Amino acid sequence: MEQATQSAPRASTRKTVSIVRCAAYDPVEIRDALRRVLEPLGGMQAFVKSGQRVLLKPNLLSAKDPKRAITTHPNLVEAVADEVRRCGATPVVGDSPGGAIRGIKRVWANTGMEEMARRAKIELVNFEASGSRGVKFGSYTFYVAKPVLEADVIINLPKLKTHSLTLLTCAVKNMFGVMPGFRKGEQHKLYPMPAEFAAMLVHLYKLVTPSLSIVDAALAMEGNGPSSGIPKWLGLLMAGEDAIAVDAAAARLIGFPDGFVDTTRIGAEMGLGEGRVEELRLAGDAADVRADGFLLPSNRVHKLIPRPLVKLVAPFVWVKPVIDPAKCIGCGFCAESCPVKTIEKEGSVYRIDDKRCIKCLCCHELCPESSIEIKLSWLAKFFA
Ligand code: SF4
Ligand code: SF4
Repeated sequence: MEQATQSAPRASTRKTVSIVRCAAYDPVEIRDALRRVLEPLGGMQAFVKSGQRVLLKPNLLSAKDPKRAITTHPNLVEAVADEVRRCGATPVVGDSPGGAIRGIKRVWANTGMEEMARRAKIELVNFEASGSRGVKFGSYTFYVAKPVLEADVIINLPKLKTHSLTLLTCAVKNMFGVMPGFRKGEQHKLYPMPAEFAAMLVHLYKLVTPSLSIVDAALAMEGNGPSSGIPKWLGLLMAGEDAIAVDAAAARLIGFPDGFVDTTRIGAEMGLGEGRVEELRLAGDAADVRADGFLLPSNRVHKLIPRPLVKLVAPFVWVKPVIDPAKCIGCGFCAESCPVKTIEKEGSVYRIDDKRCIKCLCCHELCPESSIEIKLSWLAKFFA
C-alpha cells in the first residue's frame, strides 16, 4: 500500500514551526490566531485544494468538557473547517477516542463537537462504524479507519498535553487515533515498553502522515496527563508541516530536555523530520513565548537515572497506577480498556493486580473520574 502521506513536503517551509498568541477560545480571536499561525506556512491554501475531502483529526480522548483540557477545543476545529471551506474543499471531523467502546456519540456531545458540527454543518465521521483496513508496514500491522485512508488531505489538530507513558502527546501521538478503539489496546499489549511503543507510534505516523499539524496549545495540560493532569493556560497556537519538528518545539517550550521525548527522537533518527530545535525556523510570536514552571509527568523518572546506575537501581524505581477506592465509581471502564485484563471488581470498586500489569497506563489515561493515581517508589521520587 502507498503511504498515506498527503502532499509532498515543500522545502521552503518544511522546517518552519509557527507559534502565535491566542488570547481566548472565542470565535473571533481564534480565527485571527489561526490565520496568523498559518501565515508563515503559506496559509491554508498551501495545503488544501478545491474539491478535496479534508479530514480534521482532533484529539477526542474522552467524553469531557473542553474546560478539562483533555480534548481539542471545538472552536479551533470550526475555525480550521472554515479555512478549509474557503479553499473550496470539504472538511470532515474524525477521531477514535480511547473510550469509543462506550460510544462515540457521548464523546461528540460532551466535548462540544456535536454542537459545533450542527452549527457549522460539518460531518462527524465515526471511525468505529466505518470499518478499518489492516495494513502491513514493516514488522507492524496497523488497522486504520477507512475515512482516514480515503481522505485527500489530513489536518492534524492535537492538544498539547503531558502523557504519563509517552511523556508528551502532541502532533505524532495524536495520529494514534486513526486506529479504531480496541485496536489501540492491542498495540499497548504488543509494545508495552515506552520506547517500543513510541517506535510503533512513529511508524504509524510514517504510514499516515498529516499534511499539516495545528496544535491547540491555548489551554494545555501539565502534570500526569493526558486526562488526569492539570489544565494550564498557555494561550498559544502552534503549526507546522513536520509533526516531528512541531513536537520538538512543543517539548522545548514546556521544558523537556532535547531528545527526551522518544517519538521525537525516533522520528528524527528515522529521517522523518527535524528533531533539533536549533535547526528550525521558529516563526510568529515564537521569540517571546514561554511556559515557565510547566509540570512534567512523573514517569519521566526512568530517564533521569544516571546510566551507570540503571541496572543496579531499576528494579527499585517503579511507577505504577493505583485506584483510589474513595474516588472510584465502579464504572468498569478501566477493566474493559486494560490490554492484559488485570483490573478486577472488588465489592463496588475496582482494583489492579500488580503482578500482570504492564504499566501501559491506559487505565490512568481513560478513567473518567481521575480515580487512578500514579504512585512512585521512594527511589523514583528521589530521582524525580
Ligand atoms: S477506576 Fe475509574 S475507570 Fe476504573 S472503575 Fe473506577 S471510576 Fe471507573
Ligand atoms: S492495570 Fe492499567 S497500567 Fe496496568 S496493564 Fe492494565 S491498563 Fe495498563
